[in-house]
Amino acid sequence: PVVTRFAPSPTGFLHIGGARTALFNLLHARHHGGKFLLRIEDTDRVRSTQAAIDAILDGMTWLGLDWDGDAVFQFARAERHAEVARKMLESGAAYRCYLTQEELAAMRAEAEAAKKPLRIRSPWRDRDHNDTATPHVIRLKAPTEGATTIHDRVQGEVTVQNAEIDDLVLLRSDGTPTYMLAVVVDDNDMGVTHVIRGDDHLNNAFRQLPIYRAMQGIEGGWGEPVYAHIPLIHGADGAKLSKRHGALGVDAYRDELGILPEALSNYLLRLGWGHGDDEIISRDQAIGWFELDSVGKSPSRFDLKKLENLNGHYIRSADDARLAALVAARMDFECSESDIDLLHRSMPALKPRAANLLELADGAAFLFRMRPLKLDADAIALLEGEGRALLARTHAALDAAEVWDTEALEAAVRKVADDAGAKLGAVAQPLRAALTGRRTSPGIFDVLLLLGREESLGRIADQLS
Ligand code: GLU
Repeated sequence: PVVTRFAPSPTGFLHIGGARTALFNLLHARHHGGKFLLRIEDTDRVRSTQAAIDAILDGMTWLGLDWDGDAVFQFARAERHAEVARKMLESGAAYRCYLTQEELAAMRAEAEAAKKPLRIRSPWRDRDHNDTATPHVIRLKAPTEGATTIHDRVQGEVTVQNAEIDDLVLLRSDGTPTYMLAVVVDDNDMGVTHVIRGDDHLNNAFRQLPIYRAMQGIEGGWGEPVYAHIPLIHGADGAKLSKRHGALGVDAYRDELGILPEALSNYLLRLGWGHGDDEIISRDQAIGWFELDSVGKSPSRFDLKKLENLNGHYIRSADDARLAALVAARMDFECSESDIDLLHRSMPALKPRAANLLELADGAAFLFRMRPLKLDADAIALLEGEGRALLARTHAALDAAEVWDTEALEAAVRKVADDAGAKLGAVAQPLRAALTGRRTSPGIFDVLLLLGREESLGRIADQLS
């Protein structure tokens, strides 16, 4: 059975690169009827925060990235990590290393002077010793000869000479496990079959594989995962995604940009993965179609305009009651039930013109404005001269309307235009200014219907007095 996992370090918000990694893990697992697990890598006790954990869980829930079972917390498993290190030590796959800080600093300086990366092979590797009293770390006895090849599902075949891989530390001198050890032990114990993560971790795979291989002779059940290292997301200019590019937490896409979760999820899916020319892909379709092999090898570029286009699509097809609730939450006052009902009824008129929830809320604002309306400069200009005269006639015609429905309202406004020898727009624009305070709004008859007779006539009269 396929088991994948998302393993964020809770040192900051859930950014979109992480969200996409989680999404690909979920899709791969669901596609194969397997499990998608969540592991919080909270071993960095200084930088890990509860706020970051909450933000990650909240962001994943919002995006519908539902993981199976309970989240695993890495720090709580430190004892198991240490146990694996001890077993490796006992079997000779790891060794005690007594290099001092000074000796390490000298090795670092030497490597720097030779302009070579630091690869530690400790002299203690081949010494016979068993001193447990002197402070020491436990290092992996990594292979020194030959090469390691990974058949990465995204990167293809990647080979590294084993001479390039150092004897990494498994347990620090205070007995705490290193990140590299913890990841491997947890992935093994959680039964992870496919490690899908950012390609910034590809180098780590070459340091992690020797741990799996060493453990295969020591404990039953140790296999090796399939790796898929996915390219990072870049900004529109091709540079690594940074804050400047909108590398925000997913909560900012929700709160500050007014993006719907299904739009962000669809966008992230299309970022680096494709299914023909399909742009709109539902979660179910994605599960059906997702293949790791069709994840692109080159970094994809983040494009806010594309995301907003998709978002506009999802807003147009979203349920009106849901949108009304989302917009109500964005209003700067507490919406009553009748306010929410009005929002609900307005959605068909409002949603065709909104690319995000901010625009949707902004478009709805006229519904709740206090009389007399404060008009913006464009609207004031529409009510100068002829505009005001036409508005006066429109008031009379609407006042005389026997019923307040689209047909009657349209007939009344058209008649004003015909009698004045004017175009419909010449009548509709001053009317719009009086009703909404702006020069753009949903269709004028929708506006009249949504506001109702009393409010509409009142707003018009305010501008005539
Ligand atoms: N915790 C790592 C990170 O946040 C991911 C480790 C992994 O996926 O193996 O980048």
